[in-house]
Amino acid sequence: MPSSDEVLPSRSVCLNHVVDGHLRRHLGPSLIPGSCSFCDRTDPVVTMIADFDRLARSVMAGVHEKYERTEEPERGVPTDAAVEDVCRGALDPEVSRAVQAWAQPASWRIRTLLKRGGRGAGVPEPWSAFRDRVTHQRRFTLLAGIDLREQSQLAVLDGVSVALEHVGLVRTLPAGHRVWRGRMRTDTTPPNYVAATIGSTPHERAAANRMSPAGVSMFYGSADVETAVAEISAHDPRPFAAVAAFELVRPISVIDLSVIPASPSVFAPNGRALPHQVEFIRAFAADLSQPVVLDGREHTAYVPTQVLTEYFRWLSPLRVEGIVFRSAQNGGLNYALFTGPEGCVDAGADQGRPDAVLRLRPRTELVVARASGR
Ligand SMILES: [Zn+2]
Repeated sequence: MPSSDEVLPSRSVCLNHVVDGHLRRHLGPSLIPGSCSFCDRTDPVVTMIADFDRLARSVMAGVHEKYERTEEPERGVPTDAAVEDVCRGALDPEVSRAVQAWAQPASWRIRTLLKRGGRGAGVPEPWSAFRDRVTHQRRFTLLAGIDLREQSQLAVLDGVSVALEHVGLVRTLPAGHRVWRGRMRTDTTPPNYVAATIGSTPHERAAANRMSPAGVSMFYGSADVETAVAEISAHDPRPFAAVAAFELVRPISVIDLSVIPASPSVFAPNGRALPHQVEFIRAFAADLSQPVVLDGREHTAYVPTQVLTEYFRWLSPLRVEGIVFRSAQNGGLNYALFTGPEGCVDAGADQGRPDAVLRLRPRTELVVARASGR
């Protein structure tokens, strides 16, 4: 029986606080019985609740319909005002204030320019063009500029974020969800892992990876032992692998690219504009699942996926904390979770560790032979 400090509940909201019909319909498929965090409706059988994070993302998708982000705060309005604007008459003020507190601070202006080319944010260029641009032209200034088609790249990527939400690729991994990590070994001696030795690589030793540049540590793991071993053995000839499971200490939102729908529903409010965004996402996901070639090309080959991941981590209105993608080795599920070693703790040691995201699960360590026939 876990104590209350072990599993932080995610917030939930009942439909009594949601007035707008579109928002209600958007939440419909995810409703479950339970207690509301905003009122005293606690009957777990009759009260239908939605995940608060999901509602907040839907609200931010609405903000993006009407506003685009601006780097000129003096000409825009803060996130609080934009959220209040779109929530007026759609949500209870108390819930609206909770969304304001949840959202990233930013400055917004009413869309004008970008409306010209169609609905909502500008249509993204094909992934191949984005890849060329960030590989050979600009990375650090990419999001600050307006390109030749008079599109703000930040607004375009925000449109991709909205599309991810609309087509259902943002989901919540529950507290307790397991993720496996491991290292190759020369023999079967148990390494007796602790979080510091099998958690995210220390920042100063973090090598360039698919979603993070050298010097930036992330937690790369897999959904099962087989996939974890397939990943770590791909570039390491040692005969054994020692793996262990972490579990999430709280629910987190992730972008799930393991299955990408063919095309958005025609009933999605933004449906007409979405095929370009979905193609962009599909191509990004395909690059994430390309096998790694460690011949020096990794210094540039990873740049596009690193840049887009950094956007999702720090700027996207989705507020996600990781990406789920298919293993290039065996098609299993991989996770890139946005935390360095500061987020990895030992069992019983997450007290006073507000950054804790993953807890090493005791007695999950296994030493196995690498898969044969590889
Ligand atoms: Zn309620």
